[in-house]
Amino acid sequence: MIGILGGTFDPIHYGHLRLAQEVAEGVALNAVRFIPTGKPWHRAPPHASGCHRLAMARLACAGNPLFWADAREVASQAPGYTVDTLSALRQELGQDLPLCLILGADAFLGLTSWHRWPLLFELAHIVVAQRPGFPSPDDQAGLPPALAAQWRARRVTDTAALRNTAAGHIYLQTITALNISATRIRADLAAGRSARYLLPDIVLDYIHRNRLYERSPQQ
Ligand code: ATP
Repeated sequence: MIGILGGTFDPIHYGHLRLAQEVAEGVALNAVRFIPTGKPWHRAPPHASGCHRLAMARLACAGNPLFWADAREVASQAPGYTVDTLSALRQELGQDLPLCLILGADAFLGLTSWHRWPLLFELAHIVVAQRPGFPSPDDQAGLPPALAAQWRARRVTDTAALRNTAAGHIYLQTITALNISATRIRADLAAGRSARYLLPDIVLDYIHRNRLYERSPQQ
């Protein structure tokens, strides 16, 4: 069973890495693919280039045999629709392998705005985790009605259900609450504050070497 964690990773941080690790252990994944977005269609362009964000994801994944940074969206000129990425992975990995799309609560709450979102359930399971500062995904009052209906129809509480079918379930994974965001890291760096202990040192060294996220003189 393979996990897929998409994001801007601008930069990748311990919130992403613990999310992937705890989901991998919680639902027994054989691997997690981190897929940095190329040109995100649903938000402002990232601050660092796709090449830099991919390089940082590779550095963060190195040394963990479960983790793999996937270049496909950064390398593509097309809009990085998750439904297209999952379709491509399905073609490569076959129809029977269970795939788990991993989402933090903020991403899950916005799911109905994603391109052809109901199709996602035909391509993968969704494993969702809480994120500090966002409503818990199992608080159905906080979900758009169409997503609440999917939650009621597809929610499973036994990880065996994820292994027994290739796609279509929703599973809630409890993880360590880490109130870390890339936005906050970029703000710290731009203000000249330290971002140590929020992300791996090897990623921070890369950021400093390449002068990413520094405030430009006119700001
Ligand atoms: P930004 O602050 O630039 O919006 P971000 O820190 O939210 O970035 P993304 O790359 O947008 O990071 O997130 C990718 C995925 O990781 C999303 O599913 C998001 O919910 C999840 N995620 C990010 N940070 C955390 C965290 N601290 N805890 C749980 N999930 C997280």
